[in-house]
Amino acid sequence: MDSVIELDLKPFRPGREPADQLTRGRRPDWLRVRMPDSPGYREIKGLMRGHGLHTVCEEAMCPNIGECWGRGTATFLLMGDTCTRSCGFCKIKTGRAGLLDEDEPYRVAETIAMMGLKHAVLTSVNRDEQPDGGAHIFAEVIRQIRRLQPGCTIEVLIPDFMGKWDALQLVMDERPEILNHNTETVPRLYKRVRPQAKYPRSLELLRQAKQMVPAGVTKTGIMVGLGETMDEVLQVMDDLRAVDVDIMTIGQYLQPSRFHLPIERYWTPEEFRIIHQEGMARGFRWVESGPLVRSSYHADGQADQLVLKPATSR
Ligand code: SF4
Repeated sequence: MDSVIELDLKPFRPGREPADQLTRGRRPDWLRVRMPDSPGYREIKGLMRGHGLHTVCEEAMCPNIGECWGRGTATFLLMGDTCTRSCGFCKIKTGRAGLLDEDEPYRVAETIAMMGLKHAVLTSVNRDEQPDGGAHIFAEVIRQIRRLQPGCTIEVLIPDFMGKWDALQLVMDERPEILNHNTETVPRLYKRVRPQAKYPRSLELLRQAKQMVPAGVTKTGIMVGLGETMDEVLQVMDDLRAVDVDIMTIGQYLQPSRFHLPIERYWTPEEFRIIHQEGMARGFRWVESGPLVRSSYHADGQADQLVLKPATSR
């Protein structure tokens, strides 16, 4: 799911040396965002409440919520607001998840139709207690969107399904235009950042997704600021290109609360620019890299550029 941060971004303190901005505890001014409040924002909030739906935008306290909701886009969070895993960076609550809501796919698709979305982004909490990890819910949402909002391209940001490739096949059979699965961090930091995940398993998922639907677009994302080096980031890019990933997102990790992993460093806008260039040189079709970038940030623009024909008729 999306990397998460709190909205209450403390501004960088004027008068400090630039080097100060790169240490934990100080929020540089390139991370400032406006408090969300616009007619579009309020409208989406009302729609989500009215349909009993969750978004990762809210659950993860994404800093881009004012911008994205203000222009009528949002990322739906399927299968509840409680995750069966406990990643050290993530704001979404963890615990025993409730029963799956089998009617949710219809309500999500209905809301997408009401919003008039041309590109829909769907993600979920981890549901490791489910035999298929909840893959059938993703598949059903895709079917319902095809029915209620034909022509809408679909991006699914899925968990690793614990390496159950038949679950992945269920999703890929519905031909989402973009299959996204986040790598989240460099392999050295997995134990600390994603203790219940495995780097090779995430790479294998992306490889299998491309193998199952070679014409489909695959996408992944990482956060920086957790202690990784530039060399490690570039190595991850090489690993991702080796499994033919098309799109990559890179953004700054921000600590959602004092109970979450600390920020080791703020990467600068210049470093994000270099990462973009390095990625494009490695053959990604697009690299979205910037301090506030999250998995679904500008996802509609990427779909516009990279997905030519939505798979509406099968
Ligand atoms: S970047 Fe993604 S999660 Fe954040 S507000 Fe935009 S759509 Fe929602």
